[in-house]
Amino acid sequence: MKKVDLHIHTSFSDGIYTPKKILELARKNNVEFIAITDHDTFSGYHEAKKIVADYGLELIPGVEISTSYKNVDVHILAYYPDVKNKELNEMLNNIQLGRFCRAKKILASLNDLNMPLELDRIIELAGENDLIGRPHIARAMIAAGYVQNKNEAFDKYLGDGRKAFHPKPSPSPEKIIKIIKKAGGISVLAHPQTLQNDDLVYDIIGFGIDGLEVYYGKSGFDITKHYEAIALENGLIRTGGTDFHGEGYDKQVFESFVAPDSVLKELKARKKKVNNIFKRIYEKI
Ligand code: AMP
Ligand code: FE
Ligand code: FE
Ligand code: ZN
Repeated sequence: MKKVDLHIHTSFSDGIYTPKKILELARKNNVEFIAITDHDTFSGYHEAKKIVADYGLELIPGVEISTSYKNVDVHILAYYPDVKNKELNEMLNNIQLGRFCRAKKILASLNDLNMPLELDRIIELAGENDLIGRPHIARAMIAAGYVQNKNEAFDKYLGDGRKAFHPKPSPSPEKIIKIIKKAGGISVLAHPQTLQNDDLVYDIIGFGIDGLEVYYGKSGFDITKHYEAIALENGLIRTGGTDFHGEGYDKQVFESFVAPDSVLKELKARKKKVNNIFKRIYEKI
């Protein structure tokens, strides 16, 4: 069986490990096909692409895009898009800028709660890519001794609706699904259970999503079966990955995760279909 992991974060978004280290870990765990799906940036993918030939594995172009629907965070994975596509890259740049503005608001709220943090320190933690996520702020809070761990930081302050929460300006899933399609990519709803409401999942299916992330490393059997049935009933592809960020429990999941063979087959078949549609359109013009 060929091991596949289609959901991995690097230090270019809010993961701990560099793309190089991710490739090393993937090889060590016998993963043969991976997608680096950083939040709202292709930078980690580009970095990995430069060196992937040395690791004997296949790297699938990907990104996890932050969207918002009915005040709920909806993460849309894009696989095989044209990574140079102008509209897609402009959209990612806008989201990154929104993240920066939101970080300043979160720091202001933490300051009001007597937990001052320096913006420069957060930027430093965010790494060379300057993409600021709540996990970077959580790490700074732990280092300052304000909280014991990441969970406490989210539960008390950073999580949705908590004391220092500020939403990031995010586009709608409908818009992002269209942009991914125009960029020749495949769109997949990441970890559908985090929406906590299947009505929203069905709305997103109605917007034309290609697949659901059914085999999620941190999901139990019942949730997996539930979304597997929804995917099959709606003619959607079923993808899978670990959502590896490098911390704590994540490592165990990353090492033990095995997705069924159908994942790669369905993704590649869908990409072929998209390529054929594009080819027919180009032949007409
Ligand atoms: P952001 O993209 O900045 O809105 O932050 C979202 C990221 O924070 C997710 O991708 C996770 O990595 C992490 N995260 C979200 N909620 C929690 C939570 N309750 N506990 C720990 N990490 C979380
Ligand atoms: Fe994350
Ligand atoms: Fe996600
Ligand atoms: Zn993720």
